Amino acid sequence: MSKYLDERYSALAAYVPGEQPQDKKYIKLNTNESPYPPSQETLDAVNVGETELLRLYPDPDGRILTKKIADLYGVESKNVFLANGSDDILNFAFMAYCANGRKVYFADITYGFYSVFANLHNSDYTVIPLEADFSIDAEKFCGVDGCVFIANPNAPTGLALSLKEIERIVKSNPESVVVIDEAYVDFGAESAVNLVKNYDNLLVVQTFSKSRSMAGARLGFAIGNEEIINDLHKLRYSTNPYNINRLTLAAGSATIDSQKYYDENCKKIIETREYTKNELEKTGFFVLPSKANFIFASSKSIDGGELYLKLKEKGVLIRHFTTERIKNFNRITIGTPEEMKIFIDKVKEIMEEN
Ligand code: PMP
Repeated sequence: MSKYLDERYSALAAYVPGEQPQDKKYIKLNTNESPYPPSQETLDAVNVGETELLRLYPDPDGRILTKKIADLYGVESKNVFLANGSDDILNFAFMAYCANGRKVYFADITYGFYSVFANLHNSDYTVIPLEADFSIDAEKFCGVDGCVFIANPNAPTGLALSLKEIERIVKSNPESVVVIDEAYVDFGAESAVNLVKNYDNLLVVQTFSKSRSMAGARLGFAIGNEEIINDLHKLRYSTNPYNINRLTLAAGSATIDSQKYYDENCKKIIETREYTKNELEKTGFFVLPSKANFIFASSKSIDGGELYLKLKEKGVLIRHFTTERIKNFNRITIGTPEEMKIFIDKVKEIMEEN
């Protein structure tokens, strides 16, 4: 830290992303990326012609892609906001609705970036503990006096709330924005997108990083009522109007055009998830029922941190968190069936060596 840094940032603990190691080739099950490549249409869209156009700024409103997303989700373009990954949107939402001492509520075990944004924007935040079984009790998020952030399905647990429970939370907080972070919704949970028509305070956030194989391109979108979307545009135009580059816009449009391919991938990932869960359970693991492209698992026979390290030595990378409540767990991204077979074999080897 330099002596020049504004003192309000001196105690800020930045977000720590999962490892992107360069030392050797791992089976990478640690950052919830898709194991499948983008569709042929997506690949074709990032072509020489589009690359030549890089000398020009992109459309700051990404109108073509915005319209395609609006059509896919049955809303209008004015209800759609695009950004550089969904993290970008979450940042804008904290900035717009929870900064400078305003109140915000989120779970104790959830996406780690919420507390980072809350600290960055000096929110007055309250952490609501998950239940003993790691589920969210919707009641505890109802009628609170501030903004609410819920990841649905939640990360890193993979557990999802029903649409009914989400609606209860949104309905009970009419004076505050409720952000439903649906980064993993395509792997089996119910989306709240259709509720946007009925509730002015709902903002649904999604991403192209998981189900649409575009984590490296950085593209997220949000759906909400026009006024909320305009708030976000105002902040975007006040920071970086060209926050999505040309190649990403082109890739994103082609991705929506090949939605069927991505739906098939989601189906495969869900099947592989259930296979992996069953195999781990046979090996004595406790695995939460996930609606995401990852599972959250622990074993009484091996410490979570030790399993993570031993798998890493064997070339398989998973995600371990040191937070007290979940330190015996690991989050395992669902890869291809072949990758998950190797993962299971390595886990069995480690359990036998133990
Ligand atoms: N929300 C949740 C719950 C996530 O796990 C992630 C991925 N780390 C994100 C949002 C952000 O994803 P991206 O910025 O790649 O869209």
